[in-house]
Amino acid sequence: RSAQLLERQSRRESSARTYPRRLPLAIRRASGSFVEDLDGNVFLDFLSGAGVLSLGHNPPEPLAAAHRQLDELVHGLDFPTPVKDEFTDLTLGMLPDAMRDRTKIHFCGPTGANAVEAALKLCRTATGREEIIAFQGGFHGSTLATLSLTGLVEQKAPVRGRMPGVHFFPYPHCHDCPLGLKRDTCAVNCATYLERALTDPNGGIPLPAAVILELVQGEGGVIPADPAFVRRLRELTRALDIPLVVDEVQTGCGRTGTWFAFEQYGIEPDVVVASKALSGLGLPAAVILYDERLDTWAPGAHTGTFRGNQAAFAAGVATIKAVRRDGILANVRDRAEQLTRHLADLRGLTDRVADVRGLGLMLGVELADPVTGRPASDLAARVQREALQRGLIIELGGREDGVLRMLPPLNCTAEEVEIAGRILREALAAALAAP
Ligand code: PMP
Repeated sequence: RSAQLLERQSRRESSARTYPRRLPLAIRRASGSFVEDLDGNVFLDFLSGAGVLSLGHNPPEPLAAAHRQLDELVHGLDFPTPVKDEFTDLTLGMLPDAMRDRTKIHFCGPTGANAVEAALKLCRTATGREEIIAFQGGFHGSTLATLSLTGLVEQKAPVRGRMPGVHFFPYPHCHDCPLGLKRDTCAVNCATYLERALTDPNGGIPLPAAVILELVQGEGGVIPADPAFVRRLRELTRALDIPLVVDEVQTGCGRTGTWFAFEQYGIEPDVVVASKALSGLGLPAAVILYDERLDTWAPGAHTGTFRGNQAAFAAGVATIKAVRRDGILANVRDRAEQLTRHLADLRGLTDRVADVRGLGLMLGVELADPVTGRPASDLAARVQREALQRGLIIELGGREDGVLRMLPPLNCTAEEVEIAGRILREALAAALAAP
């Protein structure tokens, strides 16, 4: 039955569909960390709706809160409502104390890409400047402007996805340094390089409206930015009065073991973009949180019809409360350690495990040829297929999809991580044994 539905849908749906191509699943229902297909097969979901489901599928409290809210008020445009009031408090409450009182929230609607676009517009308005600095390998969305910031070249080429004034710089990926340097002797040359480009009176680039980056590149292959680079970037952008935007669409709302990844880098950004896991339930929600100095928008300067999904707010309130009450951030750190051990053990099976990395429950295994360093894309695709056949859903990403990516629910259990670890090992062994 799953196969029939997959086939029927593929005849009618645009060829841009993504997940079902690699994960041939038609799903009927889900609960917690598990999804069930139309034929009753059950899978452990370590993709979590692309990092959306903090508490797994259909978490009881957010679900009940959304149900109650649906009976009361569904769509609120941007009018104040009691549930939006509570959601605002709790969302701002995810920020460190020192930032909270000077932070404004803007409800964008309703996707991550919408919120990134809002951040760009805000920074352009506030600074009166146009240029934007983004990073190679980054991902910020699929709309034209966000695609222009995306440093994944294959996705942009067919649509000539380039907005004027966007400049790309090397991302501080020390395992595979884009400048060909070694971490202990590099002197954070990537930051110096950027600094020179911004301050060089002859041939540098104009002062930009914003610098935007992911602190862990997700789609780009689960690459945590080098902390020394991030600190230097913060100093530099502060000295030059350039707003620093962190795209925490994927890293935010607890995914990395703190509410936001920037906390672990010891910096305070000017704009934080959050979406995916914000409602916890998979209902669309997206916000930007920004320093009040940037609050220069005229009334109506950035509108949108779907900025007031009350059920998403209700679910978000229940999710944030549950994450706090149940110590979920500590669980993220513990489960991340446990899963990382399993991933590191995969090195014992093959020398094609080039790197194991991530932050919190955003983890990746890079598979590459040990001699040429080329991504082992075929092997990665085989591992994903073998894992699915054994009941585990994982995703691929990075250069030529050579990285196995895992985004389990933040409340996943030690037992579920053991199951995933065992399946991954078996899947890699089977993929290696394939002709
Ligand atoms: N930024 C980042 C870092 C993302 O990972 C994504 C989605 N993968 C987006 C932006 C775009 O979000 P959406 O798909 O909701 O537009």
